[in-house]
Amino acid sequence: MIELKNVSKTFTLHNQNSAVIEVLGNVNLTVAPGECVALTGSSGAGKSTLMRMIYGNYLSQSGVISIDGTDLVQAAPRDIIRLRREVLGYVSQFLRVVPRVPTLDVVAQPLRSLGVPAETAENRARDLLSRLNILPSLWSLSPTTFSGGEQQRVNIARGFAHNYPALLLDEPTASLDPTNREVVLTLIEEAKARKSAIIGIFHDEAARSRVCDREIDVSRFTPALAV
Ligand code: ADP
Repeated sequence: MIELKNVSKTFTLHNQNSAVIEVLGNVNLTVAPGECVALTGSSGAGKSTLMRMIYGNYLSQSGVISIDGTDLVQAAPRDIIRLRREVLGYVSQFLRVVPRVPTLDVVAQPLRSLGVPAETAENRARDLLSRLNILPSLWSLSPTTFSGGEQQRVNIARGFAHNYPALLLDEPTASLDPTNREVVLTLIEEAKARKSAIIGIFHDEAARSRVCDREIDVSRFTPALAV
């Protein structure tokens, strides 16, 4: 489902004497349907960079990033948008929303954009918001004023609204209380049971060993750190 071949990333800092930072080289990685792979490695190793490349935010200098047969390195922007709508979900660390859109609509939106009827999409959103312990009195409000933990849970609800065949998770349990952490781990286990291919960054070691089948230490792809 997710296949990376010979992927690399270099940043050129044009405003700093064109300094070149080689962050990743020769990344090869395959994630099968139903498998969860953790990206590990020290801070600065390139975990977030690799995640952004797999989502198509950063372009790889070389190689292939194939998601369900679409190569993100070569894909046209409209193909990347279609892939993100139908196939590839991403739960980032921070919620970004259009101001004044009610929480229920924020969570239902990924399903609405797939043509799912409003009632079905809203029922799914209600179910996820209830499971993640967001009070119903908040559902008609914009999440922009919510606490950090509430925003994170709304973000997770939105990320799990559609059953994406491939899913990227950036610290999905960070700063959650034990009850909500358990809900999120169960959502991940349910996604795996539906055969989603998952790549995640988990600083929470117990969470990582519970839901992940393998760990990939990204430092091994970091030219400056390679031994
Ligand atoms: P990690 O997630 O493993 O902590 P990152 O992927 O955030 O590591 O960063 C890896 C390296 O890439 C760091 O040295 C960081 O400074 C550099 N880097 C990340 N994003 C950029 C960027 N947009 N421009 C320049 N350098 C970047």
